[in-house]
Amino acid sequence: DLVPITRALISVSDKGGLLELAGSLAASGVEIVSTGSTAATIRAAGHDVTDVSAVTGFPESLDGRVKTLHPGVHAGILADLRLESHESQLNDLGIEAFQLVVVNLYPFVETVESGAEPAEVIEQIDIGGPALVRASAKNHANVAIVVDPANYGEIIDAVVAGGSTLKLRQKLASLAFEHTADYDLSVSAWFTENVYDQWQDDVEILEGDLMEDDDETGDDDLPLDSPFPDGIMIEAERDAILRYGENSHQAAALYVGEGGRGIAQAVQLHGKEMSYNNYVDADAAVRAAYDFSEPAVAIVKHSNPCGIAVAGPKTPDSIASAHHRAHDCDSMSAFGGVIAANRPVTLAMAETVSHIFTEVLVAPGFEPEALTVLMAKKNIRLLELPEDYERSSLELRQISGGLLVQQTDTFDDFSSEGWTLAAGPEADAATRADLEFAWKACRSVKSNAILLAHAGASVGVGMGQVNRVDSCHLAVSRAGDRAEGSVAASDAFFPFADGLQVLLDAGVTAVVQPGGSVRDEEVIAAANEAGVTMYFTGERHFFH
Ligand code: 5GP
Repeated sequence: DLVPITRALISVSDKGGLLELAGSLAASGVEIVSTGSTAATIRAAGHDVTDVSAVTGFPESLDGRVKTLHPGVHAGILADLRLESHESQLNDLGIEAFQLVVVNLYPFVETVESGAEPAEVIEQIDIGGPALVRASAKNHANVAIVVDPANYGEIIDAVVAGGSTLKLRQKLASLAFEHTADYDLSVSAWFTENVYDQWQDDVEILEGDLMEDDDETGDDDLPLDSPFPDGIMIEAERDAILRYGENSHQAAALYVGEGGRGIAQAVQLHGKEMSYNNYVDADAAVRAAYDFSEPAVAIVKHSNPCGIAVAGPKTPDSIASAHHRAHDCDSMSAFGGVIAANRPVTLAMAETVSHIFTEVLVAPGFEPEALTVLMAKKNIRLLELPEDYERSSLELRQISGGLLVQQTDTFDDFSSEGWTLAAGPEADAATRADLEFAWKACRSVKSNAILLAHAGASVGVGMGQVNRVDSCHLAVSRAGDRAEGSVAASDAFFPFADGLQVLLDAGVTAVVQPGGSVRDEEVIAAANEAGVTMYFTGERHFFH
């Protein structure tokens, strides 16, 4: 298995040790073929060298992108001379074999680290070099491949000793594949980074546009207490590159604003990395749970709550109770859901959750025993919210070419004191409490939102429909028997009596809604006819 070395291809970016190597090879009568500046360096030292272009009959071209990528080179490396057919083909083609290839690759990492522009970095992605390395390593039965000057001594010794051994060639082949794999990883990492740096540029461009627009329109007419600045500087640092966006073909990243105390600042204690959808749902769930000052749990799927509840009366473990009741609202939808609690998770709650497939559980804390139970589940992601969690005061939504900005819906007077009785008798205290709960919970449901509740727990939620009647049907069908005797909240007024009628027919006993439709009289008449209490809040809570 000794392969005598008579012909070598040398193409190196790192010229360290090159002259000693070339000198030794030349002294042993090895023919050296070389690329551009490698050949020039060897020649300048007075050694004989053949230009690769003489072998290929083709000039090194395209600014060095094509030098050794030629069958005259690669057939000479890949031929398996243990096979007669390969030997005779090489003879027919007039191609000479190499027994030694020495290559080190363009300094890609060093170029990136120097802060070079993307165009320059891309030129430093070596194409021909890795092809030489991999071809030689594949054909280690015939060729020795050296990718590191640290191995020059060994190969010189081998040449002098009469050739390379199989053992040496195998070791070098293994090093070679490791080297090209590392190299490609660095290139891939740079691409990922660079894509996001371009995003950063986009954000800056967007900021610039906003500033300019403001200058043009002028905002002197804004009231003095306007919460809106003249321009918006989005100051957020890229914190994580997410696995992907809403779908696997969309790249995504998380940017975290400094000084924020929201879901972006939550600390992940356990589980697979958070996805884009996980964050969106976790945000919606926390928003719903934190609307309540008493212990509350919200379960979200596709950014909509499928269950919201506060603790039941006289329970030893209020957050576990709230979770139970939220889960019972729609246990089918809760499968694969995102759960938010506004109190630390207890052992009892953890035990229940551990039996339900759950994507994310987010809370202000976890009791140690609860953590132990939950961490035994590989797939659940556990997020701990900042102690002083707070929603951002402004909400930003990007539209093509700009941003929409609004104050967050932080309206927090959900008490029934300011409501006006529009139909039926005044509600008793328990019903009032239920109406207040439903009205508050309904605010986290995407419109058209209809939420049926009983005893501080949602029992049927209708959402995201393009008309209110369908949301009513959805809420009622999800509630099933539980619709009878429940109370209902609607995030906006009923434009006709038809939606309300669906609720009345299902046995809802009291309704709260903003009122304000031109057909309020119709709606009031329907409620009166059913003998059902209806309050107007005068305030709506759209949430899209
Ligand atoms: P030189 O300094 O000799 O002009 O070029 C040496 C470098 O070129 C080595 O790092 C080697 O990996 C790389 N190289 C060899 N052949 C090719 C080729 O065909 N295309 C490209 N892009 N690089 C090559």
